[in-house]
Amino acid sequence: MKNLHPALKDAYERLYHKTPLGFYNCGRICDGLCCRGDSKGMWLYPHEKEFFDGKEGFDVCETEGNYGYPMLICSGECNREERPLACRIFPLFPIVYEDNGKNKIKIIYDPRAGMCPLARENRLLDPKFVKEVRMAARSLMRDPEILEYMKAVSEELTDILELKHLLGE
Ligand code: SF4
Ligand code: SF4
Repeated sequence: MKNLHPALKDAYERLYHKTPLGFYNCGRICDGLCCRGDSKGMWLYPHEKEFFDGKEGFDVCETEGNYGYPMLICSGECNREERPLACRIFPLFPIVYEDNGKNKIKIIYDPRAGMCPLARENRLLDPKFVKEVRMAARSLMRDPEILEYMKAVSEELTDILELKHLLGE
């Protein structure tokens, strides 16, 4: 894929075919909710901007959030091969935390994925999908800039989860 940074290649490939419910298209449950309406803005990971700059059907927008990285807006339809990482791992997120000086990964439902029925119902997902999200995260973490970004998002999501817990949600 032209302009795809090498640090992203393995993760993009791993998550090309894998989907949350395996062979069943989860878009049938919700009529493809995560590709519609307000859900069409995805936070980009480091190095993804270059891949989407000027690509038909996408707009790269600078924002004040996302730790200095832009947001991608799509038209609501795309070629699977060209989805950003945020869509490939949705509705999960690989939390990165330190344990005895080593970076560890915990795969969680992304607390920002509240519109997704799978996340809301805490559904058991296809283990192969979860495994590939973990393997993709391992691969992404080899790049220092992506690792720093994943750690920052992980802290943010952990804070959200703690707040939800305190509020009894
Ligand atoms: S919102 Fe959830 S269930 Fe619906 S298509 Fe997206 S990932 Fe699948
Ligand atoms: S980029 Fe593709 S998968 Fe992601 S929200 Fe847009 S249409 Fe859906």
